[in-house]
Amino acid sequence: MKAARLYEYDPGMNVQLVIEDIPAPTIAAPDEVIVRVGAAGLCRTDLHIIEGVWKPIMDPHNTLLPYVMGHENAGWVEDVGSNVRTVKPGDAVICHPLRTCGVCLSCHHGHDMYCDHGLFPGLGLDGGFAEYFKTNERSLIRLNTGIVPLDVAPMADAGITAYRAAKRAAKMLPPGSWCAVLGVGGLGHIALQSLRELCGARLIAIDREPGAQVLARDLGADVVLDGGPNLIAELKEITGGGAHVVIDFVGELGVENICWKLLRKGGECIVVGYGGRIEVPTLDLVANEIKIGGSLVGDYTELVELMELNSDGKVKMHYTPYKLDDINTAIDDFKNRRFTGRGVIVP
Ligand SMILES: [Zn+2]
Ligand SMILES: [Zn+2]
Repeated sequence: MKAARLYEYDPGMNVQLVIEDIPAPTIAAPDEVIVRVGAAGLCRTDLHIIEGVWKPIMDPHNTLLPYVMGHENAGWVEDVGSNVRTVKPGDAVICHPLRTCGVCLSCHHGHDMYCDHGLFPGLGLDGGFAEYFKTNERSLIRLNTGIVPLDVAPMADAGITAYRAAKRAAKMLPPGSWCAVLGVGGLGHIALQSLRELCGARLIAIDREPGAQVLARDLGADVVLDGGPNLIAELKEITGGGAHVVIDFVGELGVENICWKLLRKGGECIVVGYGGRIEVPTLDLVANEIKIGGSLVGDYTELVELMELNSDGKVKMHYTPYKLDDINTAIDDFKNRRFTGRGVIVP
């Protein structure tokens, strides 16, 4: 099969993925499923993998390369193991990014992301920047009638990650409250639509890219700011003291130490983007009673909920498709923010 493989890590991101012919995965356990990839979202995590940020966790003994990335996958079931009952070849599916075990206590609680034995295709196992990839039955959600893999693939990770943060935020956001969304890229634009459906808060979208600002307005943000040097004062003026909830989809490049300063007293900052280091004086935590915490991808049931919102036309993925052969162009365009929403790779 055709696949795009990473041959070396490079903090400067100057390496190219190599498009080549490699053996397709085969069923090796009764719960496994081979998926013919319909589309695979390109994620900032893929850039961080290339940079070597994930190497200590994902590849501590230098045994992984050459490697197929791609963890935001949707497609059609190609082959199934002997115990698989809920999907059959030909079914259109979206793949929860984690292959969970289903039997550990976290899985029984429905906390898929805490699974003791979770495996992550595209983050340690070969993923979906290829014609086929392998996952397990428990990770699959059959697509609703009329939904095609290309339209939803990034929902598998970018989508649920934004949805989980939005759902948590919505519980703290009655009508009249303010929510600030930092970064209107592949995740932020899903968060805006999800917040619209889940709560009555006023939404402030913050992004320095004009294209992202237009998208934010189209998706119903009440206020769109360009994140200039006066951002904190500007936002406090608009909100009368700060946002009730801030969701930071950037988490690096200095934004990580601006996000929590946008909160009002008692506010909560949900950090989703990563790469930077947050430094908060303990006095600020105490005096303003602010909370700062992370949000990790999302559970299987959250992906089911998001796919229902999508099938009802309420939350849609804005994307630019690229052929697998053009994946290096897609990566370059992503780095330089030449598209809005998500880049999607089509084998
Ligand atoms: Zn991702
Ligand atoms: Zn488990």
